[in-house]
Amino acid sequence: MTGPDRHFACTQCGACCNRAPELELGEAADFAETFVLRLMLRIYSLPRALGDFTSDLPREEASAEFYESKRLLGQFAATSWPVKVQRGTKAVEYIQYLSLSVLPLDLGTGSCPALSLTNCSIYEARPLSCRSVPLHYSRPEAAATRDLDRFTATPTFACNTGLDAPLVISSQRVVEPAMLAARAAAATQAQADQGWKAGIVKAMKAGQHGLPKPREVEAQAAQGALTASMLGAWHIAEAAGLIEPGSVQSFLSAQACLIERELERPTLGRDAAQTLREMHRKYQAALAI
Ligand code: SF4
Ligand code: SF4
Repeated sequence: MTGPDRHFACTQCGACCNRAPELELGEAADFAETFVLRLMLRIYSLPRALGDFTSDLPREEASAEFYESKRLLGQFAATSWPVKVQRGTKAVEYIQYLSLSVLPLDLGTGSCPALSLTNCSIYEARPLSCRSVPLHYSRPEAAATRDLDRFTATPTFACNTGLDAPLVISSQRVVEPAMLAARAAAATQAQADQGWKAGIVKAMKAGQHGLPKPREVEAQAAQGALTASMLGAWHIAEAAGLIEPGSVQSFLSAQACLIERELERPTLGRDAAQTLREMHRKYQAALAI
């Protein structure tokens, strides 16, 4: 399989930091003082058979994209199940993958809370998804050239794609060491989070901790992701012995302090302010128990 090489360097224009980044579950504790965190539940779908997969890539690359997507979805998903979808006269079998991750609350400011002017204020310790920009680690390498071209073609983005920038893709493979390291670290994190995700799925099925049932997430899939409080996720991790005793209290304290700071933010959106006040009330109540 061949493809044109691609060069890329971030010029730190800050344009793609227009919202806070999605995190893996196991990253949440590290960012409890930076982002107001919500559990994100989302469904991804992929046909079971290659013959039902559609792609704008040439046939051989589309095939690689399909099999790599299947592997990556399985790697990052909390659970999966088959469904039949009517496509014209044909019932096509899909696999639905339930993704559980962490999404910082959108404060309605139009930028990531960690962005300072055009610079990332936590650059050395930024999340895995930011480390893998412009190619998210959960995306197949087979589609990397297309994905990079789409990203860098965004009119406001000032990425350097000239020959003076490092080579990042060669023959449809990511070759840049930092991006490869971020992809490997994300895969390791996903593996480490599997027990936690399984506990959350179990609680979802049992209707515990105010979590939606998997079918409810599925029913909402066309409208996008659902979010829920991280409180239940933390208690599940604690009950399963996945985190140190006292970690829940530390997380809630850090989040409550951060929420108080964010409520002072002059550019805060009205909806975000309301959500923050509600979260603060719940976290304070949980801390008082
Ligand atoms: S954490 Fe840093 S790199 Fe990531 S979106 Fe925010 S400002 Fe940008
Ligand atoms: S848009 Fe490109 S140059 Fe600007 S911050 Fe993002 S990756 Fe860097």
